[in-house]
Amino acid sequence: RAKAKSRGTISIYEPEMDQQIRDRRVLHQELSVAIKNGELSLYYQPQTTAGASAAESSVIGFEALARWHHPQRGFVPPGDFIPLAEESGLIVEMGEWILREACREAASWAVPLQIAVNLSPAQFTHGDLVGLVHSILLETGLTPDRLELEITEGVLIEDLDRGLSLLRRLKALGVRISMDDFGSGYSSLSYLQAFPFDKIKIDRAFVINLGRNPQSAAIVRAVIDLGHGLEMSIVAEGVETEAQLGFLAEEGCDAVQGYLLGKPAPIGQYAELVGGGHLLETVRKAG
Ligand code: C2E
Ligand code: MG
Ligand code: MG
Ligand code: MG
Repeated sequence: RAKAKSRGTISIYEPEMDQQIRDRRVLHQELSVAIKNGELSLYYQPQTTAGASAAESSVIGFEALARWHHPQRGFVPPGDFIPLAEESGLIVEMGEWILREACREAASWAVPLQIAVNLSPAQFTHGDLVGLVHSILLETGLTPDRLELEITEGVLIEDLDRGLSLLRRLKALGVRISMDDFGSGYSSLSYLQAFPFDKIKIDRAFVINLGRNPQSAAIVRAVIDLGHGLEMSIVAEGVETEAQLGFLAEEGCDAVQGYLLGKPAPIGQYAELVGGGHLLETVRKAG
């Protein structure tokens, strides 16, 4: 949100800003046709159990991550285009496409693994999110217990009552809710008390520092205990080394996600894990 971003910052006019504004406007128009032009796609990153080593960790699901392949600029990272889509309200249409695509993909897998999808604040405040999730589940045939919706604190910050009511209605559909990037924002503890999360994803900033500073280890350990005390399961993000995984497994972390276990990639790269996906489905139907 532009509002949240400008808070506490001072705007100083610089000539380059004209160019930046023009660039933004162009990028904006291009993003608005990206869905139609088939430039958006989803990458999938595995989430696994926290085994003693990567080899001993088994895949429990995937997180869908949006990618934009711009015809001239090439690959635009989600950290750049998601905020742009949020500012313009395009995220509502885009978020709908992402949710439908991820559910459709997961429904085609022979192995009924979980699928996690990120939601933006604008999807909570515009339109009928609960109705949309419900109809996409019906349309794709994905069973609700396989879908997990990842939200950040920013989603709830604006209107706590409305946020709580939405989460309850989403949970009533049978889907799970996870708190993404836990520890990176504000008021995390009061949110954990107020909202019925099923899962906490520990922000990768803490995971990166495991083994580098004792404070991070203490925080990660405390979040695991806190989450378990609240009957939530814990996923650690950004696991890159066997040492980090070993620590997390030892501390009783439920699941992990990170380059060590697998990078985000087109689903084809994980075809054997999902049982061939729709390719297999097509072969079966054809045979
Ligand atoms: P996120 O939901 O916290 O997703 C995890 C991000 O961490 C992903 O970045 C992933 O590629 C990256 N990551 C995973 N493991 C590692 C690791 O071991 N090391 C490092 N350095 N990074 C790792 P990505 O795909 O660039 O996405 C960035 C953010 O953009 C996401 O953070 C999410 O907030 C947002 N985003 C991505 N896709 C969507 C989407 O479909 N909808 C919405 N609303 N937001 C999305
Ligand atoms: Mg996420
Ligand atoms: Mg995250
Ligand atoms: Mg993040």
